[in-house]
Amino acid sequence: MSDIDLKKTLLQHLDSLRWSGLGDLPQTGALEFDFSDLEAAPDTQPAKPPQSPKSATEQAPAKVAAEPTPSKPTPAQPAPPTLLAEGDYGDVISDAGQRSAALKVIAEEVSACTKCAELCSNRTKTVFGVGSAEAKIVFLGEGPGANEDQQGEPFVGAAGQLLDKILTASSLSREQVYIVNVVKCRPPANRNPTDDEIKNCWNYLERQLEIIQPTHIVCLGSVAAKSLLNTKLSLGKMRKQWHQYRGSKVIVTYHPAYLLRTPTAKKHVWEDMKLLMAEFGVEL
Ligand code: SF4
Repeated sequence: MSDIDLKKTLLQHLDSLRWSGLGDLPQTGALEFDFSDLEAAPDTQPAKPPQSPKSATEQAPAKVAAEPTPSKPTPAQPAPPTLLAEGDYGDVISDAGQRSAALKVIAEEVSACTKCAELCSNRTKTVFGVGSAEAKIVFLGEGPGANEDQQGEPFVGAAGQLLDKILTASSLSREQVYIVNVVKCRPPANRNPTDDEIKNCWNYLERQLEIIQPTHIVCLGSVAAKSLLNTKLSLGKMRKQWHQYRGSKVIVTYHPAYLLRTPTAKKHVWEDMKLLMAEFGVEL
């Protein structure tokens, strides 16, 4: 006999005794309990815990499980892009010491350069570049500021400190990457370098990249991006996608100096760094 039948029989028996004149019997309401679980489940089966989506699938009718689903043909996967197409950068200098020596030769040329009359007459020091000669990632800015002009090193002022924070947050260090500018001398009053100045200085940058052969270049600001990619597109239109410069994948983001003036743009730079580091299997 099921619990439901047992209860009904008991209630009927109590009612019949009560109606027969017997007192001190429990009211049938005291025996009330929730039938819903029993009505929803078979008498002989214990209540089952809720099924997860996985277990529900596993308990699908045997007929369905027994019929194998015809396998669909897997579409061919496109081949991953080649990061260093042969010949893009010419011969690779495999020895780190030779790369550093080759960069030093160019740095000496730069230090004596007088191609831009206004810039070279106002500079304190040329700012060649800093970092690993074997860096996979090159950060490219536009030109030195006052602090850089004094110290001869790129990104050492407030913007440089912010760049350091971005690098650290991205699991990178200055020693792992290479940092360089489009022009090696400070434009007066921090103005943008002119097209002629960029053109005059371009060969130095080109040769630096040929020696380092980075897989990835991060353009910091629109001057760097427009120069490297030879485009007039706005920075906003260039962000969030990969570009190509010879053998390197290029990403465009805001200059740290812009972030100092517009802190709300930091989240966009962080998105770009996530995109960059994902290329190296690093999840930020
Ligand atoms: S900016 Fe470049 S090209 Fe112009 S003077 Fe300086 S090193 Fe020479």
